[in-house]
Amino acid sequence: MPTDAQRMEKIVSLCKRRGFIFQSSEIYGGLNGVWDYGPLGVELKRNLKNYWWRVIVHERDEVVGMDGAILTHPEVLRASGHLGGFSDQFVDCFVTGKRFRVDEIQPQSGIVYRFAGALQRDVLPKLQGEGINVDLSSQDPIPPLRWAAVRERPPGLRLSFSVLATSAISPKRAKTTAMEFYRRRGIADPVLFGEREARVENTTRYNPENGSLLTEPRSFNLMFETHTGALDEHSSGRVMSVGPAGATGPPSEPGYSGYSGYSGHVAPLEPVKFDSTLTSSQKQPVDVKGTLEAADTALAYLRPETAQSIFVQFKNILEVSRKKLPFGIAQIGKAFRNEINPRNFTFRSREFEQMELEYFCRAEEGMRLLEYWKEQRLKFYENIGIARDKLHVLTVPDEERAFYSKGTYDIEYEFPFGRQELEGVAYRTDYDLSQHQQASGKSLEYFDEETKQRFVPHVVEPSAGVDRTVLALICEAYAEDEAPDEKGKMETRIVLRFHPRIAPIKCAVFPLLKNKEALVAKAKEIVDLLRPHMYVFYDESGAIGRRYRRQDEIGTPFGVTVDFETLGEKDAALRDTVTLRERDSMKQDRVAIKDLPSILISRIR
Ligand code: ATP
Repeated sequence: MPTDAQRMEKIVSLCKRRGFIFQSSEIYGGLNGVWDYGPLGVELKRNLKNYWWRVIVHERDEVVGMDGAILTHPEVLRASGHLGGFSDQFVDCFVTGKRFRVDEIQPQSGIVYRFAGALQRDVLPKLQGEGINVDLSSQDPIPPLRWAAVRERPPGLRLSFSVLATSAISPKRAKTTAMEFYRRRGIADPVLFGEREARVENTTRYNPENGSLLTEPRSFNLMFETHTGALDEHSSGRVMSVGPAGATGPPSEPGYSGYSGYSGHVAPLEPVKFDSTLTSSQKQPVDVKGTLEAADTALAYLRPETAQSIFVQFKNILEVSRKKLPFGIAQIGKAFRNEINPRNFTFRSREFEQMELEYFCRAEEGMRLLEYWKEQRLKFYENIGIARDKLHVLTVPDEERAFYSKGTYDIEYEFPFGRQELEGVAYRTDYDLSQHQQASGKSLEYFDEETKQRFVPHVVEPSAGVDRTVLALICEAYAEDEAPDEKGKMETRIVLRFHPRIAPIKCAVFPLLKNKEALVAKAKEIVDLLRPHMYVFYDESGAIGRRYRRQDEIGTPFGVTVDFETLGEKDAALRDTVTLRERDSMKQDRVAIKDLPSILISRIR
């Protein structure tokens, strides 16, 4: 059995090899957190979105769809709270430069070792030779005026730095990290000096991977900003930077900023804060520069979620659709977030798609509908082939829920890299519509004909990620089993056990031999017969076993083989029949060509 990490590696490599998912701009080195879907990935994604649309919109009387713009007016996002509060905090490792989201660092306890600086090892004998006593335990091991003796290059660096030793990182390892810190700052063979130690509890100030101190947390808004209209050539409006600002610059130094070799002046040593333990990064308000100039300069944002255009168009859609509460507006589309740490393949991307439903209702129905939609959404995942026991419902605790929400569930899936959110189902009260009503000055009220009441509806929102679900589908489908090769010898088979409903290709059609015209012609006839109903793939090259295997690997649920019996050469009764092979059981049945459409359609719907 492969480990989860190996399994994930195999999945990522299969995705590339067979054309599901590629790194975006790969030939230029790739753009972090951005992915392209290849020929099979796009089919899988479409099948997922179409099925969502079918069950959420087409199969319901009370839901309609919309397709809003990606470019969004700043006032929309100010009213929704995104401009002020849609931010994360991040920190960088002083040694490796690796970036972390503060709320993703688990609190750690252990011993902090703080050093006042480091000396070059080879200056020690030199100084001793001159009768200078070097006391490495001192904060200031060499009298400053004696530095003239070794002035040809910086003999050391007086820059305080600290590392954390924990149960996972030994003191030796932590000190090696500290040496690396000074090495990267020009001290080729460092000897640490001025060591002090202290116990700390539950700190998030140190890199859990190497014990290094992290930079002070910085907040940044996750939205991508751009400008509409012509701008002068120096404007930054044409350029959107990816990643938190300063992502490429060095982190500011701990202790004090800048280097200091001893050159007669000794910079004051600032103490490293030992227990500046930070709690979670919870979205902190930050001031984004989209103040009122926004409208003048036509500042715009790439939407961070599809939901806001639904709220903003609520009145228009209500009027044209003439729906009564409860009713919903659904949308599938791109959303953009400048995630601090895109990772786990497509799981956390900077550009992704959402499938969101805003289901408007009366206040008294909110909690009931929250339960209803949670159940509906769980059923949805089962209907696309995700095992119920791999799905988990997390009740988001009061302190983590948005203040306006009366109840939120996260639907999570057991990915090989851990249990992670696929979808949020939230009862958002009347917060969104009320905010937009207040900010725009336009009524977003609903008029109840029967009771003659006017009020702002409440909303329940199931919000799912397309890319995360695609990844869950691939992870769920990936399997290795045994199948016979051409000579009947068992070999390992890679198979994607997609539910036929979402499989990229539904049926592959194979003539047994490619140089037999009659077989090829018949196979092509079958392709034409099936094509109006499903995505079919024709393949005539290679041994039949190999052709089956290629389709298994991309999850094609059915294979149709045209052989000599189809032509009626052996038995007239078998004329116009084919073998229908099922991917998972590898079972082969003889069926009449004319029955193929109905057999297959019933299984892929
Ligand atoms: P997370 O806590 O993982 O950042 P979130 O709670 O901020 O997610 P929502 O704002 O509730 O996410 O967005 C709804 C859905 O959109 C998520 O459940 C997820 O499926 C999808 N989604 C959100 N952010 C991303 C992303 N960076 N990459 C891919 N999908 C995403």
